[in-house]
Amino acid sequence: MTKPRFSIVAPAYNEEESLPEFYRHVREVMDAIGEEWELVLVNDGSTDRTGEMLRELHAQDRRVCIVDFARNFGHQIAITAGMDHARGEAVVTIDADLQDPPEVIPELIARWREGYQVVYGVRAEREGETWFKLFTARLFYRLIGSLTEIEIPMEAGDFRLLDRQVVEELRRMREHRRFIRGMTSWAGYRQIGVPYQRHARFAGETKYPLRKMLRLALDAITAFSDLPLKLAWLCGLGLLGLGVLLGLVLLGLRLAGATPLVGQGLVLSVALLLGGVQLVFLGILGEYMARIYDEVRNRPLYTVRELVGFDES
Ligand code: UDP
Ligand code: MG
Repeated sequence: MTKPRFSIVAPAYNEEESLPEFYRHVREVMDAIGEEWELVLVNDGSTDRTGEMLRELHAQDRRVCIVDFARNFGHQIAITAGMDHARGEAVVTIDADLQDPPEVIPELIARWREGYQVVYGVRAEREGETWFKLFTARLFYRLIGSLTEIEIPMEAGDFRLLDRQVVEELRRMREHRRFIRGMTSWAGYRQIGVPYQRHARFAGETKYPLRKMLRLALDAITAFSDLPLKLAWLCGLGLLGLGVLLGLVLLGLRLAGATPLVGQGLVLSVALLLGGVQLVFLGILGEYMARIYDEVRNRPLYTVRELVGFDES
């Protein structure tokens, strides 16, 4: 087997129900293109039969390669590992639950052949998502858009094609809290979006509960913006102004002979307000600090139990 021209990278965390169907779709679509391809599946510490299933797929079809994590590291890290091991000239990242239809891959490839180095899927329509997911997703893109300077395309997920040159750049970025959408956008190069219809999950349920979505949002914001840190300035200056104003008003009232409007209630609420604001900013500082600490420890991004199929070419 020569080096494949295309690599399809898909992370899988407890996807035993979707995997065989996913493989069938990918094989059909990629075989129709008529060039060498490989399917790099990253087993992200699944607790169901995903691991065995991947090995069965590999036994059937040597173009299926496996990166088997030693535990669950999360979606973004799994994609990263897939890109680290992919050998193609163009690398497509796609979810293994068939929400991103493999049938769109030829379109991405067509754009790549036109010379675009990043071709990302834009979800024109999303089926089978709860209003809550749609609402929080929209809020998320808005927030990222207004907080950061890099342009992260609205409604673009992690379904995209990357040229080898871009993959190599991304591979040099070893940050631990990864927001790959942002990193790809940050990298630059010729980018273009391709609209597609996002289906409902083929089977199973989302592996992205609210907790993980919030973490991704925090990682995205801290990785691409220092605005939250600077907000302390604004808030501090505002409160300072308010304090001075209040002092002046109290002084005026005292000079005019009126009883000033102080009481325990007022003092208590102001104390709570100030304490709250300070703790919030301590928390924000903490978020950034935890990330600095993460980087300083400089641990590897993931640990691999086994690599299957990569040395056979
Ligand atoms: N995934 C993963 N590790 C995780 C969570 C998810 O590898 O910790 C994979 C999952 O198997 C799927 C993709 O990432 O292929 C997207 O996850 P999911 O479909 O649950 O997210 P959603 O589409 O609901 O946002
Ligand atoms: Mg999904």
